[in-house]
Amino acid sequence: MNCNGRRNNLEKFFQMYEKKICFFSILIILIIIAILIYNFLLMPNIRLKGSRFVELDYLDKYVEEGYSAYFLHDDITDKVVVKNNINSKKLGNYEVEYMVNVGGFKRKVVRKVKITDKTAPVIKLDSDDTVYVCPGEKFSRDKFTAIDAFDGDVSDNVVVENKNNEIIYSVIDKHGNKASVKQKIIYEDKTAPIITLNGSDLVYVFIGDNYNELGVNATDNCDDLTDAVITEGMVNVNVAGTYDIVYSVSDKAGNKASIKRTVIVSERNKKGTIYLTFDDGPKRGTTDVILDILKEEGVKATFFVTNSGPDDLIKRAYDEGHTIGLHSASHSYSLVYSSVDSYFHDLDIVSNRVKNITGEESKIIRFIGGSSNTVSRKFCEGIMSNLTGEVLKRGYRYYDWNVSAGDAEAGGHTASEIADNVIKSLSKNRVNMVLMHDIKTYTRDALRTIIRYGKENGYTFENITMSTEMITQRVNN
Ligand code: ZN
Repeated sequence: MNCNGRRNNLEKFFQMYEKKICFFSILIILIIIAILIYNFLLMPNIRLKGSRFVELDYLDKYVEEGYSAYFLHDDITDKVVVKNNINSKKLGNYEVEYMVNVGGFKRKVVRKVKITDKTAPVIKLDSDDTVYVCPGEKFSRDKFTAIDAFDGDVSDNVVVENKNNEIIYSVIDKHGNKASVKQKIIYEDKTAPIITLNGSDLVYVFIGDNYNELGVNATDNCDDLTDAVITEGMVNVNVAGTYDIVYSVSDKAGNKASIKRTVIVSERNKKGTIYLTFDDGPKRGTTDVILDILKEEGVKATFFVTNSGPDDLIKRAYDEGHTIGLHSASHSYSLVYSSVDSYFHDLDIVSNRVKNITGEESKIIRFIGGSSNTVSRKFCEGIMSNLTGEVLKRGYRYYDWNVSAGDAEAGGHTASEIADNVIKSLSKNRVNMVLMHDIKTYTRDALRTIIRYGKENGYTFENITMSTEMITQRVNN
């Protein structure tokens, strides 16, 4: 009994022990599975945006399309290290490496990049796609260049083919990229002749003097136009007036060109003539009285106006047969003489004013301070030399003076003093261009005395016209 009971106890011990071994084995297997899942399924993960294979053209810049990285549920994109050795100047295969390391758990992903030459050369022609060639002339090829991004200058490899009225320029680079350009040839003269005047487009001649015709120069892309110029209009140097001469020319294809020259035939200034000229107006209270006196005396004068004063006095002076000349809109030396452009800007303002009032454009001008002024040097060196030439080129005539009333100088003046200043300077042996200012009361009051003196002493009074000989001073700047 005792023996049997002992054996049973031993069996029970062994049975319990087997159960424990079985339990521990299962536990170890579970741990191993957990580690494997952790290692192989829960590793850091990198996802690339865009393609895993990128093909780039030579010299194109590699642009990263982006990526993201996760570990378990955490975004670890900012832990990714990106490396590449791409050289876009060298053809070949490259790799972009994306690497991440989280506590020893590493992951690496690669994007492949290939640099190739896919760009064709660029052919540039000297002329347009369509070329007009003079009839009878031959045109076999244009000047050209062919530049390839990879090969460089491949102009020497360009093949030129002539097909009917078309020229084809083609070239192929080392990697087989082709380029070709077509050029159309039309045998037709589409270009007008070029006609230019010898000498000025505005010529002044005194009555009885010779008019020297300098002619024109006419050239054409296709034809010789010597003797082809037709001149219309003529100059009668015995009759004062404005003459237009028109030169025209036509090439064989019928393309025309023409140009005009204006010739002004004028009387020489008569000795003993007085030109009364008034600057800086108009002004009410003086200009209107001056107009009354001129009307009563039957004398015509010239008014060089500014942008100030009433319009109706300019209108009245014009309607009563006086000449309206242009002085300056602003009468500001620093503004007017700062540059050639500002001079003409200022002149245009007063010119427009006069044209609006009278309906007629005036080309008769007087420089503020006269052409000999030196004040302008302060604002622009040499400007008077420029302007005196430029105004003539633009068709203006400018008039200085050789008699001054002295009414612009500072100080109190009297009418008799102003009259004396003028009278003592008058001469029968020349033209007398008298500078006065119609904004001054003492000038207004001196006027009748001056006119009476002139009449009594055999002078004649005239207003300036475009055919009046210019009275000019020496330019000093
Ligand atoms: Zn002035």
